[in-house]
Amino acid sequence: MRLIRGRFAPTPSGLMHIGNARTALLAWLLIRSRGGEFILRMEDIDRPRSKPRFAEQIVSDMRWLGLNWDEGPDTGGPFGPYTQSERLELYESALRKLEREGKLYPCYCSRAELLAVASAPHGLASEGPQYPGTCRCLSPQERLERARVKTPSLRFRVPDEPVHFRDEAAGDQTAPAGAGGDFIVRRADGIISYQLAVVVDDAAMMVTDVLRGVDLLDSTPRQLYLYDGLGLTPPRFAHVPLLNGSDGKRLAKRHGAVSLHAIRESGTPPETVIGCLAYLSGLLDRPEPVKSAELAADFKLERVPREAVEVDERLLQMLAGNTGKRI
Ligand code: GLU
Repeated sequence: MRLIRGRFAPTPSGLMHIGNARTALLAWLLIRSRGGEFILRMEDIDRPRSKPRFAEQIVSDMRWLGLNWDEGPDTGGPFGPYTQSERLELYESALRKLEREGKLYPCYCSRAELLAVASAPHGLASEGPQYPGTCRCLSPQERLERARVKTPSLRFRVPDEPVHFRDEAAGDQTAPAGAGGDFIVRRADGIISYQLAVVVDDAAMMVTDVLRGVDLLDSTPRQLYLYDGLGLTPPRFAHVPLLNGSDGKRLAKRHGAVSLHAIRESGTPPETVIGCLAYLSGLLDRPEPVKSAELAADFKLERVPREAVEVDERLLQMLAGNTGKRI
Protein backbone atom coordinates (compact mmCIF):
# COMPACT_ATOMS: atom_id res chain seq x y z
CA MET A 1 0.00 0.00 0.00
CA ARG A 2 1.25 3.48 -0.87
CA LEU A 3 2.00 5.70 2.09
CA ILE A 4 -0.35 8.70 2.08
CA ARG A 5 1.52 11.98 1.72
CA GLY A 6 0.23 15.50 1.30
CA ARG A 7 1.47 19.02 1.39
CA PHE A 8 0.70 22.68 1.74
CA ALA A 9 2.60 24.69 -0.87
CA PRO A 10 2.14 28.44 -0.41
CA THR A 11 3.74 31.14 -2.53
CA PRO A 12 5.35 33.55 -0.05
CA SER A 13 4.29 36.68 -1.92
CA GLY A 14 2.11 38.03 0.89
CA LEU A 15 0.82 37.35 4.38
CA MET A 16 -1.22 34.23 4.99
CA HIS A 17 -4.90 35.08 5.21
CA ILE A 18 -7.79 33.03 6.49
CA GLY A 19 -8.51 31.70 2.99
CA ASN A 20 -5.00 30.20 2.73
CA ALA A 21 -5.19 29.07 6.35
CA ARG A 22 -8.41 27.21 5.64
CA THR A 23 -6.85 25.46 2.64
CA ALA A 24 -3.83 24.57 4.79
CA LEU A 25 -6.11 23.20 7.53
CA LEU A 26 -8.13 21.08 5.08
CA ALA A 27 -4.99 19.74 3.34
CA TRP A 28 -3.55 18.87 6.76
CA LEU A 29 -6.78 17.26 8.00
CA LEU A 30 -7.16 15.18 4.84
CA ILE A 31 -3.70 13.71 5.32
CA ARG A 32 -3.80 13.35 9.11
CA SER A 33 -7.24 11.70 8.97
CA ARG A 34 -5.75 9.15 6.55
CA GLY A 35 -2.75 8.55 8.80
CA GLY A 36 -0.37 10.15 6.30
CA GLU A 37 2.68 12.39 6.27
CA PHE A 38 2.54 16.11 5.64
CA ILE A 39 5.02 18.46 3.95
CA LEU A 40 5.35 22.25 3.90
CA ARG A 41 6.88 23.68 0.74
CA MET A 42 7.58 27.32 -0.07
CA GLU A 43 6.91 27.95 -3.73
CA ASP A 44 9.27 30.88 -4.14
CA ILE A 45 10.61 30.23 -7.65
CA ASP A 46 9.16 33.52 -8.81
CA ARG A 47 11.89 35.37 -6.88
CA PRO A 48 10.75 38.92 -7.63
CA ARG A 49 7.30 38.19 -6.14
CA SER A 50 8.46 36.15 -3.13
CA LYS A 51 9.88 37.60 0.08
CA PRO A 52 11.73 35.69 2.84
CA ARG A 53 9.82 37.63 5.51
CA PHE A 54 6.51 36.28 4.16
CA ALA A 55 7.95 32.74 4.12
CA GLU A 56 9.04 33.16 7.76
CA GLN A 57 5.63 34.49 8.74
CA ILE A 58 3.85 31.57 7.01
CA VAL A 59 6.06 29.07 8.87
CA SER A 60 5.30 30.82 12.14
CA ASP A 61 1.54 30.94 11.38
CA MET A 62 1.46 27.22 10.51
CA ARG A 63 3.15 26.37 13.82
CA TRP A 64 0.82 28.67 15.71
CA LEU A 65 -2.21 26.96 14.12
CA GLY A 66 -0.84 23.55 15.13
CA LEU A 67 -0.50 22.40 11.51
CA ASN A 68 2.74 20.46 11.87
CA TRP A 69 4.82 18.81 9.14
CA ASP A 70 6.96 15.71 9.21
CA GLU A 71 10.09 16.45 7.25
CA GLY A 72 12.16 19.13 5.60
CA PRO A 73 15.60 20.69 5.94
CA ASP A 74 17.06 20.28 9.42
CA THR A 75 17.21 23.69 11.11
CA GLY A 76 18.77 22.34 14.30
CA GLY A 77 15.32 22.61 15.86
CA PRO A 78 12.04 21.81 14.12
CA PHE A 79 12.20 21.02 10.40
CA GLY A 80 12.22 23.95 8.03
CA PRO A 81 9.99 23.97 4.97
CA TYR A 82 11.26 22.74 1.61
CA THR A 83 12.06 25.77 -0.52
CA GLN A 84 11.77 25.70 -4.29
CA SER A 85 14.52 28.27 -4.90
CA GLU A 86 16.94 25.71 -3.38
CA ARG A 87 15.79 22.98 -5.76
CA LEU A 88 16.39 24.60 -9.16
CA GLU A 89 18.72 21.83 -10.34
CA LEU A 90 15.84 19.32 -10.13
CA TYR A 91 13.63 21.46 -12.36
CA GLU A 92 16.46 22.04 -14.86
CA SER A 93 17.07 18.32 -15.05
CA ALA A 94 13.36 17.68 -15.74
CA LEU A 95 13.56 20.31 -18.50
CA ARG A 96 16.58 18.56 -20.01
CA LYS A 97 14.67 15.27 -20.05
CA LEU A 98 11.65 16.86 -21.75
CA GLU A 99 13.93 18.66 -24.21
CA ARG A 100 15.79 15.46 -25.14
CA GLU A 101 12.45 13.85 -25.92
CA GLY A 102 11.36 16.73 -28.17
CA LYS A 103 8.58 17.79 -25.79
CA LEU A 104 9.70 21.42 -25.55
CA TYR A 105 10.44 24.19 -28.01
CA PRO A 106 11.80 27.73 -27.72
CA CYS A 107 9.26 30.51 -28.07
CA TYR A 108 10.31 33.99 -29.17
CA CYS A 109 6.91 35.67 -28.99
CA SER A 110 6.74 38.90 -27.02
CA ARG A 111 3.92 39.67 -24.60
CA ALA A 112 2.57 42.30 -27.02
CA GLU A 113 2.51 39.80 -29.91
CA LEU A 114 0.66 37.30 -27.75
CA LEU A 115 -1.92 39.82 -26.59
CA ALA A 116 -2.57 40.84 -30.19
CA VAL A 117 -3.66 37.29 -31.09
CA ALA A 118 -5.16 36.39 -27.73
CA SER A 119 -8.80 36.12 -28.65
CA ALA A 120 -9.01 32.35 -29.18
CA PRO A 121 -11.36 30.69 -26.68
CA HIS A 122 -10.12 27.61 -24.87
CA GLY A 123 -10.97 25.28 -22.06
CA LEU A 124 -8.87 26.78 -19.26
CA ALA A 125 -10.49 29.98 -18.09
CA SER A 126 -7.92 31.18 -15.57
CA GLU A 127 -4.84 30.01 -17.41
CA GLY A 128 -4.31 33.08 -19.59
CA PRO A 129 -4.89 33.37 -23.30
CA GLN A 130 -4.51 30.31 -25.48
CA TYR A 131 -1.10 30.24 -27.19
CA PRO A 132 -1.70 30.12 -30.94
CA GLY A 133 1.36 27.94 -31.57
CA THR A 134 3.37 30.57 -33.48
CA CYS A 135 6.80 29.12 -32.61
CA ARG A 136 5.78 25.43 -32.55
CA CYS A 137 7.02 24.60 -36.01
CA LEU A 138 9.85 27.08 -36.67
CA SER A 139 12.69 25.74 -38.82
CA PRO A 140 16.20 25.57 -37.30
CA GLN A 141 17.10 28.54 -39.52
CA GLU A 142 14.16 30.62 -38.24
CA ARG A 143 15.10 29.76 -34.67
CA LEU A 144 18.66 30.92 -35.23
CA GLU A 145 17.49 34.21 -36.66
CA ARG A 146 15.09 34.88 -33.80
CA ALA A 147 17.60 33.84 -31.17
CA ARG A 148 19.84 36.67 -32.36
CA VAL A 149 17.35 39.27 -31.18
CA LYS A 150 15.52 37.59 -28.32
CA THR A 151 16.14 35.11 -25.52
CA PRO A 152 13.37 32.53 -25.83
CA SER A 153 11.06 31.08 -23.24
CA LEU A 154 10.52 27.31 -23.33
CA ARG A 155 7.10 25.85 -24.05
CA PHE A 156 5.73 22.38 -23.50
CA ARG A 157 4.12 20.79 -26.55
CA VAL A 158 0.67 19.89 -25.26
CA PRO A 159 -0.45 16.55 -26.72
CA ASP A 160 -3.60 16.54 -28.78
CA GLU A 161 -5.49 14.43 -26.25
CA PRO A 162 -8.28 15.30 -23.83
CA VAL A 163 -7.61 15.00 -20.11
CA HIS A 164 -9.96 13.28 -17.69
CA PHE A 165 -9.55 13.09 -13.97
CA ARG A 166 -11.65 12.49 -10.91
CA ASP A 167 -11.43 15.24 -8.35
CA GLU A 168 -12.29 14.21 -4.80
CA ALA A 169 -14.01 17.54 -4.14
CA ALA A 170 -14.92 19.04 -7.53
CA GLY A 171 -16.07 15.78 -9.16
CA ASP A 172 -15.23 14.37 -12.59
CA GLN A 173 -13.27 16.74 -14.80
CA THR A 174 -12.58 16.80 -18.52
CA ALA A 175 -10.42 19.24 -20.45
CA PRO A 176 -10.57 19.26 -24.25
CA ALA A 177 -7.60 18.03 -26.33
CA GLY A 178 -4.71 20.47 -26.18
CA ALA A 179 -6.55 22.50 -23.53
CA GLY A 180 -5.01 25.92 -23.05
CA GLY A 181 -2.40 25.41 -25.76
CA ASP A 182 1.34 24.94 -25.34
CA PHE A 183 2.41 26.53 -22.07
CA ILE A 184 5.60 28.02 -20.72
CA VAL A 185 7.80 25.88 -18.50
CA ARG A 186 10.72 28.31 -18.32
CA ARG A 187 10.32 32.03 -18.87
CA ALA A 188 12.73 34.05 -21.01
CA ASP A 189 14.23 35.48 -17.79
CA GLY A 190 15.09 31.92 -16.69
CA ILE A 191 12.32 31.59 -14.08
CA ILE A 192 10.84 28.09 -13.95
CA SER A 193 7.06 27.99 -14.24
CA TYR A 194 4.81 27.02 -11.35
CA GLN A 195 3.40 24.15 -13.46
CA LEU A 196 6.75 22.46 -13.90
CA ALA A 197 8.07 23.03 -10.37
CA VAL A 198 4.89 21.81 -8.70
CA VAL A 199 4.85 18.58 -10.72
CA VAL A 200 8.54 17.84 -10.21
CA ASP A 201 8.25 18.51 -6.48
CA ASP A 202 5.02 16.66 -5.81
CA ALA A 203 6.49 13.64 -7.60
CA ALA A 204 9.90 13.90 -5.90
CA MET A 205 8.21 14.28 -2.50
CA MET A 206 6.00 11.28 -3.24
CA VAL A 207 2.83 13.29 -2.66
CA THR A 208 -0.22 11.07 -3.09
CA ASP A 209 -2.99 13.56 -2.24
CA VAL A 210 -3.10 17.20 -3.29
CA LEU A 211 -5.79 19.35 -1.70
CA ARG A 212 -5.77 22.97 -2.82
CA GLY A 213 -8.06 25.85 -3.80
CA VAL A 214 -10.43 25.53 -6.73
CA ASP A 215 -8.65 28.48 -8.33
CA LEU A 216 -5.98 25.95 -9.34
CA LEU A 217 -8.39 23.47 -10.90
CA ASP A 218 -7.68 24.91 -14.34
CA SER A 219 -3.96 24.24 -13.90
CA THR A 220 -4.45 20.55 -13.28
CA PRO A 221 -4.82 19.43 -16.94
CA ARG A 222 -1.48 21.09 -17.68
CA GLN A 223 0.09 19.38 -14.71
CA LEU A 224 -1.32 16.04 -15.82
CA TYR A 225 0.23 16.53 -19.26
CA LEU A 226 3.55 17.15 -17.52
CA TYR A 227 3.24 14.07 -15.29
CA ASP A 228 2.66 12.07 -18.41
CA GLY A 229 5.47 13.78 -20.33
CA LEU A 230 7.92 13.09 -17.51
CA GLY A 231 6.74 9.50 -16.99
CA LEU A 232 5.57 10.27 -13.42
CA THR A 233 2.52 9.08 -11.49
CA PRO A 234 0.09 11.90 -10.65
CA PRO A 235 -1.44 12.27 -7.18
CA ARG A 236 -5.16 12.34 -6.38
CA PHE A 237 -6.58 15.85 -6.45
CA ALA A 238 -9.20 17.63 -4.35
CA HIS A 239 -9.92 21.25 -5.25
CA VAL A 240 -11.94 22.97 -2.55
CA PRO A 241 -14.08 26.10 -3.00
CA LEU A 242 -12.71 29.42 -1.80
CA LEU A 243 -13.94 31.79 0.87
CA ASN A 244 -15.88 34.87 -0.21
CA GLY A 245 -16.66 38.13 1.55
CA SER A 246 -20.29 39.09 2.28
CA ASP A 247 -20.44 40.83 -1.14
CA GLY A 248 -19.92 37.44 -2.82
CA LYS A 249 -16.40 38.38 -4.00
CA ARG A 250 -13.30 36.39 -3.14
CA LEU A 251 -12.19 37.21 0.40
CA ALA A 252 -9.63 40.02 0.45
CA LYS A 253 -8.17 42.65 2.73
CA ARG A 254 -11.02 45.07 2.19
CA HIS A 255 -13.41 42.61 3.84
CA GLY A 256 -11.73 43.06 7.22
CA ALA A 257 -9.83 40.65 9.49
CA VAL A 258 -8.22 38.45 6.94
CA SER A 259 -4.49 38.37 7.62
CA LEU A 260 -3.46 35.77 10.13
CA HIS A 261 -0.64 37.98 11.31
CA ALA A 262 -3.12 40.71 12.23
CA ILE A 263 -5.50 38.22 13.84
CA ARG A 264 -2.64 36.97 16.03
CA GLU A 265 -1.66 40.51 16.96
CA SER A 266 -5.19 41.21 18.13
CA GLY A 267 -4.77 38.46 20.74
CA THR A 268 -7.21 35.93 19.25
CA PRO A 269 -6.12 32.40 20.25
CA PRO A 270 -5.36 29.77 17.57
CA GLU A 271 -8.26 27.57 18.74
CA THR A 272 -10.71 30.37 17.88
CA VAL A 273 -9.24 30.67 14.39
CA ILE A 274 -9.30 26.91 13.82
CA GLY A 275 -12.90 26.82 15.12
CA CYS A 276 -13.96 29.52 12.65
CA LEU A 277 -12.17 27.80 9.77
CA ALA A 278 -13.73 24.44 10.69
CA TYR A 279 -17.16 26.06 10.88
CA LEU A 280 -16.62 27.62 7.44
CA SER A 281 -15.70 24.17 6.16
CA GLY A 282 -18.83 22.40 7.39
CA LEU A 283 -16.87 20.55 10.09
CA LEU A 284 -18.53 22.27 13.09
CA ASP A 285 -22.08 23.50 13.57
CA ARG A 286 -20.88 26.56 15.45
CA PRO A 287 -17.59 28.52 15.35
CA GLU A 288 -16.43 27.27 18.75
CA PRO A 289 -12.76 27.00 19.78
CA VAL A 290 -11.08 23.72 18.89
CA LYS A 291 -7.56 22.40 18.28
CA SER A 292 -6.62 21.24 14.78
CA ALA A 293 -5.65 17.79 16.10
CA GLU A 294 -9.14 17.30 17.61
CA LEU A 295 -10.70 17.66 14.16
CA ALA A 296 -8.51 15.04 12.50
CA ALA A 297 -10.20 12.01 14.08
CA ASP A 298 -13.47 12.25 12.16
CA PHE A 299 -12.62 14.55 9.25
CA LYS A 300 -14.72 13.88 6.14
CA LEU A 301 -13.99 15.72 2.92
CA GLU A 302 -17.64 15.21 1.90
CA ARG A 303 -18.67 17.67 4.61
CA VAL A 304 -16.77 20.56 3.01
CA PRO A 305 -19.29 22.64 1.01
CA ARG A 306 -19.05 22.32 -2.77
CA GLU A 307 -19.78 26.03 -3.28
CA ALA A 308 -17.81 29.09 -2.20
CA VAL A 309 -18.59 29.97 1.41
CA GLU A 310 -19.38 33.51 2.56
CA VAL A 311 -17.56 34.79 5.61
CA ASP A 312 -19.91 37.15 7.42
CA GLU A 313 -19.10 40.26 9.42
CA ARG A 314 -19.79 38.55 12.76
CA LEU A 315 -17.14 35.95 12.11
CA LEU A 316 -14.63 38.56 11.03
CA GLN A 317 -15.34 40.43 14.29
CA MET A 318 -14.73 37.24 16.24
CA LEU A 319 -11.39 36.75 14.48
CA ALA A 320 -10.42 40.34 15.20
CA GLY A 321 -10.91 39.65 18.91
CA ASN A 322 -14.13 41.70 18.87
CA THR A 323 -12.03 44.85 18.93
CA GLY A 324 -14.04 46.26 16.07
CA LYS A 325 -10.76 47.08 14.37
CA ARG A 326 -10.56 46.29 10.67
CA ILE A 327 -7.29 44.41 10.46
N1 GLU B 1 1.91 27.88 -4.71
C1 GLU B 1 0.57 27.83 -5.17
C2 GLU B 1 -0.21 28.99 -4.60
O1 GLU B 1 0.13 29.48 -3.53
C3 GLU B 1 -0.18 26.58 -4.77
C4 GLU B 1 0.40 25.39 -5.37
C5 GLU B 1 -0.43 24.14 -5.22
O2 GLU B 1 -1.05 23.93 -4.18
O3 GLU B 1 -0.39 23.37 -6.16
O4 GLU B 1 -1.17 29.42 -5.21
